[in-house]
Amino acid sequence: MPTIFEVEHLHQPDGWLSPGYLEVDDRGVIARVSDQLTEGEKAQRLAGFGVPGLSNLHSHAFQRGLAGRTEHVTGERAEDNLWTWREQMYRFVDRLTPEVYEAIASLAYLEMLEFGFTAVCEFHYVHHQRGGDSYDNPAEMSDRLIAAADRTGVGLTLLPVLYVHGGIGKPPGEAQRRFVHGVEEYVALLDTARGRRDACAKLQVGAALHSLRAVAPDEAHATLAGVTAIDPTARLHIHVSETTREVTEVEAALGARPVQWLLDNTGLDDRWCLVHATHLDATELAGTAASGAVAGLCPVTEANLGDGFFPLPEYHEANGRWGIGTDSQCSTSIAAELRMLEYGKRLELERRNVIARPADGPGAHSGRVLFDSALAGGEQASGQGGGALVPGRRADLVMLDGERNVLLGHGPQTALDAWILGGTQNPVRDVMVAGKWIIRDGRHPKKAAIRAAYRDCIARITQ
Ligand SMILES: [Zn+2]
Repeated sequence: MPTIFEVEHLHQPDGWLSPGYLEVDDRGVIARVSDQLTEGEKAQRLAGFGVPGLSNLHSHAFQRGLAGRTEHVTGERAEDNLWTWREQMYRFVDRLTPEVYEAIASLAYLEMLEFGFTAVCEFHYVHHQRGGDSYDNPAEMSDRLIAAADRTGVGLTLLPVLYVHGGIGKPPGEAQRRFVHGVEEYVALLDTARGRRDACAKLQVGAALHSLRAVAPDEAHATLAGVTAIDPTARLHIHVSETTREVTEVEAALGARPVQWLLDNTGLDDRWCLVHATHLDATELAGTAASGAVAGLCPVTEANLGDGFFPLPEYHEANGRWGIGTDSQCSTSIAAELRMLEYGKRLELERRNVIARPADGPGAHSGRVLFDSALAGGEQASGQGGGALVPGRRADLVMLDGERNVLLGHGPQTALDAWILGGTQNPVRDVMVAGKWIIRDGRHPKKAAIRAAYRDCIARITQ
């Protein structure tokens, strides 16, 4: 039997319905949206603001266990940056077991749901045992992520990562051996992961190249050909231009800046997500925007690592597509990520409301423009089938509690501004993924068990 919900304020692509009626069928797909019931129909009332669940477009779930553990300097690391942080991350990777990997991912995915994400793109590169031997089941670590997604209820777009070299022209270092595949083995792993979809309705499988530092041009071409042969619509993700050092290294080796190289050599299109893309020149910015690819911005991680700041106003002006990822998990919050983007630019440009343009529609509200952009970019990068509360899309619904202080007294016109820019309290009350309630009244049924397993595992590996 389909279920009809009467949502006090229902987010729609062109505004709000107050109330809006949302009919969800037995498969968890939205069958109908309307502003009234037909005679004899009954609806379950949901108070507050109903918004679509967002897809988190970039996650390394295991890094949740490292959050808050690298915020100090030492004599050898007096000047800290992405590269020195990476050494600490590698030491953490050394201690990961499949059990620990799953426990940390479960906590990270739980938190994402609590903040209103209903899907996550997992950029997954810890494939093997310490030292580099594969597990008896070569997909062991992928399966642990699938299990974590299943336990928490989040939609998962698994992106097994191809990682071949330790840097341009360098063999992998000791810690990096856990990441490394040849192209053929990698394509076989993709095939195995795709086979898991039969048992897991919310699982999508895409592909990822770690970066132009870790994958050489011939390997990139061979992999893209292999992936396209399996699935011509597979999402393709890559880390690119996160730091100026990477831009310099790639330019020296390949004769072009990294994004320019991708534009010239891979036919960038709407299957692609360029993660970070922080350092773009004007030609790369225009080329990326025109390509239809999504820029995968991870604002809090990029701030944490001191990477630099994406040219968002210029890119938005060029109608570039973008979404947000929580990457290293020093935030797992939609509002924190979007706030960092907008406020960072306000500080830099010394003005207010930098992302919204009058052309963005009635009132051009920053919260609405930020949310809707991240919503569309996240759906494009994840291919999860949600992204809007309209017929035919997956029923991923997040109810914001209008009684929380941050939303108290707000109507639909300013609710997203209030959530994202008007306070720090989390107003997410209920979360539905594919027509099923995953969180009700702020409670996830497996929260206590997930927290206990995480605490045990972290205690074991940080002693
Ligand atoms: Zn990343």
